[in-house]
This record gives sequence, C-alpha cells and structure tokens, in this order.
Amino acid sequence: MPVKGKKIKIFKISIHCKVCNQLLYVYQKEGPGLLVKCYADRIIEDHTNGDLKCPSCGQLFARHAIMHCRPVHKIIQGKVYIKGHVKK
Ligand SMILES: [Zn+2]
Repeated sequence: MPVKGKKIKIFKISIHCKVCNQLLYVYQKEGPGLLVKCYADRIIEDHTNGDLKCPSCGQLFARHAIMHCRPVHKIIQGKVYIKGHVKK
C-alpha cells in the first residue's frame, strides 16, 4: 500500500553470489541501507531456478518468509554481495 506524502527512493541493484560471482537477482530496493530481504514482487530479473540457491555453485543464499503479508526472500548475510545503481 503506498503511503501518501512519503516518497521512498528506489534503488536498482544487482545481487551476486559471493562464492562464484553469479548474478542472482536484479532488484528494486526501497531506500538505502543494508539489504536484509527481497520482496518477491520487486525482483526485476530472477537468474536463479526459484529455489533460493545459486544456479552456478548451488549455495543457499536466502530463505522464504512472509513479511507485511508479502512473500520475501530473507538474505543470508555473507552469502551475497550487492552492486548498486545498476544502469542499463
Ligand atoms: Zn554461486
């Protein structure tokens, strides 16, 4: 639900596997700060097989959860790294 009068800055970032550098998601992040979760409906490009594992090395990098009635992928810290402000 959008909050009126409050604009949240959206950052376009890419999420990579820390082990093998595989691109996992291109994601629209709300506001700055540490990425702890991905809302499933904000993932623009999904390069995984949908099982929250790196398709290249098989490492589990996130867990399914529900937050604010939306499905999220909770990032396991230390498993991924972020590249910010991806330009196309
Ligand atoms: Zn990997």
